[in-house]
Amino acid sequence: MDYHARITSMRQSQIFTKTRREAPSDEVAKNSQLLIRAGFIQKMTAGVYSFLPLGLKVLNKIEKIIREEMNAIGGQELRLAALQEKALWEKTNRWDDAVVDNWFKTTLKNGNEMGLGFTHEEPLTSLMRDHIRSFRDLPVYAYQFQTKFRNETRAKSGILRGREFLMKDLYSFSRDEKEHDEFYEKSKIAYKNVFNRAGIGEKTYITFASGGSFSKYSHEFQMLTEAGEDIIYYNKEKGVAVNKEVYTDEVLAEMGLKKSDMTEGKAVEVGNIFSLGTKFSEPLELFYKNEEGKNIPVIMGSYGIGVPRLMGSIVEALGDDNGIVWPTEVSPFAVHIVAMKTEGAVIEAAEKLYKELTDIGIEVLLDDRDARAGEKFGDADLIGIPLRITIGEKSIAEGKYEFNDRIAQKTELFDKDQLMAYIGKHNV
Ligand code: ATP
Ligand code: MG
Repeated sequence: MDYHARITSMRQSQIFTKTRREAPSDEVAKNSQLLIRAGFIQKMTAGVYSFLPLGLKVLNKIEKIIREEMNAIGGQELRLAALQEKALWEKTNRWDDAVVDNWFKTTLKNGNEMGLGFTHEEPLTSLMRDHIRSFRDLPVYAYQFQTKFRNETRAKSGILRGREFLMKDLYSFSRDEKEHDEFYEKSKIAYKNVFNRAGIGEKTYITFASGGSFSKYSHEFQMLTEAGEDIIYYNKEKGVAVNKEVYTDEVLAEMGLKKSDMTEGKAVEVGNIFSLGTKFSEPLELFYKNEEGKNIPVIMGSYGIGVPRLMGSIVEALGDDNGIVWPTEVSPFAVHIVAMKTEGAVIEAAEKLYKELTDIGIEVLLDDRDARAGEKFGDADLIGIPLRITIGEKSIAEGKYEFNDRIAQKTELFDKDQLMAYIGKHNV
């Protein structure tokens, strides 16, 4: 039977990617070093990465978590075009804006200039004019997963900072500040859920950051890591932080915090939420008619998460000296079965368990390769599937399964019932 059609268990002998001992010498970030070595991603050039089958599985799982949480707060998914018209961006003065110096621009054969989108406020706001007319049409929450292009100056952080990367960007369109604020608070909870499910909740702080012209603050979700490019001051007990850029006595006082309560740390911004007010709706003329028939500009917000940045952050946060450690919900497979032989009772037992687990909907990677034990274990550590079952002659003779939990860092000899119970409990 072909299991691939139903769920995506795989035999390692069939995966075309190879693991490698060394990362490319120009790759300095831990996340991309490990991901390249394990065969999840390929570096095309600085800041440009391709996702290989294992990497795409992880990316898709992260995407699924984010999609579920965005849908839960009323998000409607769409996908906008990447190519952007110059005229649209001139309306908000962002085509030639010195602050926005990361455009990839190109010229059509007829001479018209176009840009590859680095964000999507302009096209979405403009598009909404065809759909939002009266107060009855609001609120609207629209989001997408879409490739962004940014001519980043520094691209040394692996997939934490790509020149081309997948972003989840949601935009909210509300009648007034109150309706906006309610959604803004809901989005904070949704973001917390995302980072908890992705396994970095404990290290991720909701962080006060500068808000731009329309609100005092925005909020970033900053994950503590030496690989980060930002500096934050965080308070572990309260689970909050302040970005260095707005770290003043005034801000601390508003938060009921004292300088002595805060710890400095390096962090990466895995997501952010932003109140935009009428910054885009006014110049792009997105108005609605209120109950008195009066034209009112729509109140907007934007909510971003870099999907590969989140994937790279997980690797930075949880990876160890031996390799990657995937949290259960984003792991490419739930279970890794390592068969110590490619013939006889060992491979038979391994194949049998592979089929049993797959039949009950568990995604398994079966190492059925003809390779030395050291190589198999080294690769298994590198790839980072959290649950591993090693099948060899000794454990078969004892009627047991050698079981290893990479997150809990424990190894046990389980009988079949214990094994199934443990997997059942840790599978999502
Ligand atoms: P940064 O300050 O790190 O450059 P940003 O403030 O430019 O980020 P936004 O433009 O608001 O970020 O983008 C939304 C989200 O997209 C960010 O919170 C981050 O998770 C992600 N992101 C931004 N730039 C990149 C990039 N070059 N590669 C991967 N993810 C990115
Ligand atoms: Mg940026």
